[in-house]
Amino acid sequence: MAHCGTLFIISSPSGAGKSSLIRGLLDRPSIDGMLQVSVSHTTRSARPGEVDGIHYHFVSQPEFQTLIERGAFYEWAQVFDNYYGTSREWIDEQLEKGIDILLDIDWQGARQIRAQSPSAKSIFVLPPSRVELERRLNARQQDTAEVIKGRMDKAVSEMSHYDEYDYLLVNDNFDHALDRLSAIIEAERASTEKQAIRFQNLLDGLLAE
Ligand code: GDP
Ligand code: ADP
Ligand code: 5GP
Repeated sequence: MAHCGTLFIISSPSGAGKSSLIRGLLDRPSIDGMLQVSVSHTTRSARPGEVDGIHYHFVSQPEFQTLIERGAFYEWAQVFDNYYGTSREWIDEQLEKGIDILLDIDWQGARQIRAQSPSAKSIFVLPPSRVELERRLNARQQDTAEVIKGRMDKAVSEMSHYDEYDYLLVNDNFDHALDRLSAIIEAERASTEKQAIRFQNLLDGLLAE
C-alpha cells in the first residue's frame, strides 16, 4: 500500500516555542492518536526533567557514529555542538499504518527529508521578535547563559531558511498559534490524495456501477 500517513517537519530557532506547540497539539482531541512525534537520537546531555526514550534517545558520540554507519538515520545533522538524528525504521512503520509523524528537526535535517520524501509538509515557527526570543530562552531556565548566547547567535542564520518551508507560523499569542498549527495538520489530512487512500472502500462502494 502507498504510504498513507503524512510526514510533517517543524523547525524554528531554539526558544521560538516548537516543543510547547507540539505538546499542545498532542493534547487536542482532534489529533486522536493519529499523530506521533518522532523521538530523535542526540549526543547532547539530558536537561533537567528530560527522560531517555521520551524526549530523546540520549547516546554517546561513538554510539551515534555506529548508527550512522548502519544507515539507521533518515537524516542527521550537527546542530550547535551536538549531533541529532531521526531513525528511519520506526517512522516508516507508522506511516504504513496511516499514522502522521511530526519531526522536530533543524533546517539541515528538513532539507534531507524533503530530498527523500518530497510529499513531506514543513512548517517554520518564528518568534514575534528577537527580544521575545531571548526572553523565552531565559524563561525556560534550562540552559546556561553561554548556551543561550550561542543559540541567539545562531537564530538569525536559522531563520533565514524560512522560505524553504511550506507554512510559516508566528508564535505570538500561544493559543492562536496552536489553532493555526492544528489547522495546517487538519487541512493536510483532508487533502484528496490522503482521503482517497483512507476512504478507498467508501469510494469503491459509492462509485460502484
Ligand atoms: P530546542 O531548539 O530548544 O528545542 O533544542 P533541542 O536541543 O531540542 O534541539 C536542537 C536543534 O536540533 C533544533 O534545531 C532541532 O530542530 C534539531 N534537531 C533535533 N532533533 C533533530 C534530528 O533528529 N535531526 C536533525 N537534523 N536535527 C534535529
Ligand atoms: P523550542 O522548543 O522552540 O526551543 P520551547 O517550546 O521550549 O521552544 O519554548 C521556549 C520557552 O518559551 C518556554 O519557556 C515556553 O513556555 C515559552 N513559550 C512558548 N511559546 C510561547 C508564547 N507564545 N508566548 C510566551 N511564551 C512562550
Ligand atoms: P534542543 O537541544 O534544544 O532539544 O534542540 C535544539 C534543536 O535541535 C532544535 O531546533 C531541534 O529542532 C533540533 N533537533 C532535535 N532533534 C533533531 C533531529 O533528529 N534532527 C535534526 N536535524 N534536528 C533536530
